[in-house]
Amino acid sequence: MITEQDLGDWRRTHYSSQVNDSQIGQLTVLMGWISSKRDHGNVLFIQLRDRFGDTQIVAKKEKDLENNIFEVLKNLKEHSSIGIKGKVVGQKKSPNGVEVIPHEIKVLSVSTKSAPFLTQSVSTIGIDTRLELRALDLRRNYLQNVFRIRFTILKSVREFLTKNYFIEVNTPKMISTATEGGAALFPIFYYDKEAFLAQSPQLYKEQLTMAFENVFEIAPIFRAEPSRTNRHLSEAISIDVEKAFVNYYDIMDLLDELISYIILRIKDENPNELKNLEIELSELKIPFPRYTYSELIDKLQKNHKYIRWGDDISPKILKDVIGDGFYYIVDWPLSTKPFYVKSKGNSDIAISKPNPSFVTSENNSIMVSESFDLMYGPLELSSGSTRINNKSVLLDNMKKKGLNPAAFDYHLRIFDYGIPPHAGFGLGLERLLMALLKIENIRDATFYPRDIDRLTP
Ligand code: ATP
Ligand code: MN
Repeated sequence: MITEQDLGDWRRTHYSSQVNDSQIGQLTVLMGWISSKRDHGNVLFIQLRDRFGDTQIVAKKEKDLENNIFEVLKNLKEHSSIGIKGKVVGQKKSPNGVEVIPHEIKVLSVSTKSAPFLTQSVSTIGIDTRLELRALDLRRNYLQNVFRIRFTILKSVREFLTKNYFIEVNTPKMISTATEGGAALFPIFYYDKEAFLAQSPQLYKEQLTMAFENVFEIAPIFRAEPSRTNRHLSEAISIDVEKAFVNYYDIMDLLDELISYIILRIKDENPNELKNLEIELSELKIPFPRYTYSELIDKLQKNHKYIRWGDDISPKILKDVIGDGFYYIVDWPLSTKPFYVKSKGNSDIAISKPNPSFVTSENNSIMVSESFDLMYGPLELSSGSTRINNKSVLLDNMKKKGLNPAAFDYHLRIFDYGIPPHAGFGLGLERLLMALLKIENIRDATFYPRDIDRLTP
């Protein structure tokens, strides 16, 4: 039995990244956890990990009669948390050119069980087993690399938008009405009333263009997605952007630049993480290609006779006409988009085999919207559009979509006071991470995934 000790007055003097040949001969205090252990009988090699990486600790049996360090380390399992006081010595074979010979150890927290998956290796263990011990899972090399890059994305979004005169806002997550339609809502108790978790900050960010012109928010969106897919979470992080006095073309330009900036910053900040993940982020050519919805439908109809203009395009069949990489699908049928999306006017483009329900009855024409989806291969990363800023058009649209205007009174009344023309997008953080790092399951792009089957941990 190894007893745990208090931290007491021990404090680390160096992180692993600071232990190098300039310290040879010096004393150091390291803190961390055992990420791996090699037992060579009379010699133990321990990798002591902290937030910057590993330091090699070498304990020899014969040198150790006094403090029992060898025996203690020998009996500690991977993941145990320890402090080491020791001397830095040169070691050509170790990655940072040094190793540490311990002469005092503090066992801070004993790992009593053997973990069901290893820190170093790529895990073949199913994601559900891993999620049950998520904090431990997150210690694995693979996820460490993923989440450091995730952090770089968030930092660079803030940098880029700040430089472009946006301010960061926060909007309520407890709301009274749906904004997106489609995806289902999570109802909650709000004192004595029913309320909902926000599906998106849409209407609030639009309103805020009135006061601040250019706003962004990075926050959770909540959607009661009924299906089990590898690209939907019930709680996801959305990067929402809204800008005044522009339309959807300007917003696509902005999004092109945002994605390019993110990739530059990742290459800058995370070369090691990219190497470990074996990901090469190639230079992007912007603008990303923009295909109209109608031209894609024409192409798809060659191999999929049943597809009609007006249908949503499923990721599966997109594979047939599009390669990898970033591109936009623009000018979606108005009917596929939420009520706040601006129409492009009656389209005079030739449309083959329209779904009759999408032909407007009045003049037999087809309504296209000023909208785009940013895609990566078959994966949707973002949806954006020019928004309606005329009250009567918005009111009309709500009624057409079967929404109750009275429930949106709090929003509609703003339109009496000069809301500027505006456009924007919502970009899924986890989806972007999936695309950049080739992550198969969205659950590995978030810390604690929520889905139809999972509310813990
Ligand atoms: P999808 O068609 O893929 O379900 P959507 O069109 O319903 O997405 P939007 O309302 O356009 O989603 O939301 C904007 C962006 O937010 C999406 O492009 C996506 O990146 C992200 N997003 C939306 N819903 C989810 C979800 N359930 N899980 C993860 N990300 C999501
Ligand atoms: Mn969308």
